[in-house]
Amino acid sequence: MQTVSLMGLGTMGAGMAGQLLKAGFPLTVWNRSRERAAAFASQGASIAASPREAAEASEVMISMVADDEASRRVWLGEDGALAGVKPGAVLIESSTLSPVWIRQLAAAASERGCGFLDAPVTGSKMQAASGELLFLVGGESHTLDCVLPVLKAMSRDVMHLGPVGSGALLKLINNFLCGAQAAAFGEALALIEKSGLDREQAITVLLNGAPGSPVVKAMAARMAPRDYTVNFTLELMQKDLSYALAEAAQHSASLSMAAAAHQLLAKANEQGYGKQDFAALIEPLRS
Ligand code: NAP
Repeated sequence: MQTVSLMGLGTMGAGMAGQLLKAGFPLTVWNRSRERAAAFASQGASIAASPREAAEASEVMISMVADDEASRRVWLGEDGALAGVKPGAVLIESSTLSPVWIRQLAAAASERGCGFLDAPVTGSKMQAASGELLFLVGGESHTLDCVLPVLKAMSRDVMHLGPVGSGALLKLINNFLCGAQAAAFGEALALIEKSGLDREQAITVLLNGAPGSPVVKAMAARMAPRDYTVNFTLELMQKDLSYALAEAAQHSASLSMAAAAHQLLAKANEQGYGKQDFAALIEPLRS
């Protein structure tokens, strides 16, 4: 089996690492805060002191970190993974990032004789922990063929969408739609609460009618009881919408719904909800 390293053991990376170990891949892990990585030693993973050390130990490298800045640090920073890669290795960037950065990273990988895929995921904490993610892949088919068993170990499906950047772009569009629906439902629920309608009855009507999408159902279950236990942090959703807006501007496309949702998320973040689940976007609307 190929030697694999996973860098970034947050909500998503931790579940993905567990699935790779379960499938029997020899796994090296690295995380910025070492204590998160240490927990995987007892499950059979090797712990790397730096992304460079992780790269030296593996043929396939996966990054699952917060944003462009974190990804830049993992791959190109001092002791970054690209300093330790072997020619012929495959780099997989699974974080939700801007297509602009993804293309820069792909070029840096190519200069070192490595394959590169952008492979962000849909699904959240539960799907990561149970190996039921969906990978949205951009890159060369032959590179994907090399690492398919690795991606399959963490997912219900792997979709090849086109050249480098295609996965990153579709993921931003996916999260734009999720963020806009969540913001719209937040406004609907705040209006229900302020107007004195029977909240449970009103929610039942909405969830069982045309507006009851999976996102809206998930938001209703969280927003009504104010349960903001993290599946996906508000600050990461805000980041995704800002990347979606920047990308849309490059294509002269309008994402006015993303702009409105982003504004609401920014307000909730300012009020201290950034590290809570993004369902907390309703809180500024309640005041
Ligand atoms: P998370 O729980 O907040 O974890 C973030 C990870 O990034 C941690 O390992 C963190 O390290 C690391 N990190 C942050 N800044 C860093 C830096 N400057 N240098 C190095 N490492 C850094 O996030 P997550 O929910 O797992 O999400 C990870 C990625 O997947 C994000 O791009 C997110 O948008 C995407 N995603 C999330 C979900 C979801 O539902 N949660 C679903 C699909 C995609 P520390 O432990 O040291 O803080």
